[in-house]
Amino acid sequence: MPLHQVRQGKLVYYRFTLFAGFPELVHGIFTRQGGVSSPPYNSLNLSLTVGDQPERVLYHRQLVREALGVSELVSVGQVHGKKALIISTLPPRVATRESQGIDILITNVPGVALMVKQADCQAVLFYDPQRRVIANVHCGWRGNVQNVLGQTVRLLQENFGSRPQDLHVGISPSLGPGCAEFVNYRQELPQEFWSYQTRPDYFDLWRLSRDQLQAQGVRPELIQLAGLCSCCQAADFFSYRRDRHTGRNATVIALRSADE
Ligand SMILES: [Zn+2]
Repeated sequence: MPLHQVRQGKLVYYRFTLFAGFPELVHGIFTRQGGVSSPPYNSLNLSLTVGDQPERVLYHRQLVREALGVSELVSVGQVHGKKALIISTLPPRVATRESQGIDILITNVPGVALMVKQADCQAVLFYDPQRRVIANVHCGWRGNVQNVLGQTVRLLQENFGSRPQDLHVGISPSLGPGCAEFVNYRQELPQEFWSYQTRPDYFDLWRLSRDQLQAQGVRPELIQLAGLCSCCQAADFFSYRRDRHTGRNATVIALRSADE
């Protein structure tokens, strides 16, 4: 399934077709187009911690809020771990204050948008239409090693009563099999991942994430893989692997407020 492309003002973003039948849901995979930052952050950089001017980043976050029609945008300091921030009551405004050490964002509160920032890592969006709860997960290869996606399914089960077979999951553009080279994989990746090599030293992290979701009970037909490589698609996506010193894309999901 291809992604759906949206052009809104100067912004260009993608949507998963998997979520198209849920009017209560709003989401966007924002490209780097439509912002005001200068190289190497050109142009829609959403990270406050890569050296870009803060007022530009905050302006971009405002553009994201306006594009999706949401009032709150939750952003956290991501650390390639598996700790979660679960928001089940309306929080104070969190647009500029970042929690630290969090890679799993979960909420059932309408109007609270969850943002993951990325440059090659996966943002993995979850929606349970039965329990009306969403998650947005930052998952790079270290996240795969810790099975942060399986952990998210467990947290949705434990905290909201979600059934894995009800979960709809979208895996964002991210480092693809043609570019995910791990020359030190024997030290970095556990042996059960070694079969994900597509050729020597190159790994299919997309299939790995799919398999980790399915192992936790997510149905394969309810997983949509964007299938776009951030490292290859320089016009749309920042890539740490390609550029090192660069900006961050944002992938955002929210339950729509009743009054919006
Ligand atoms: Zn690539």
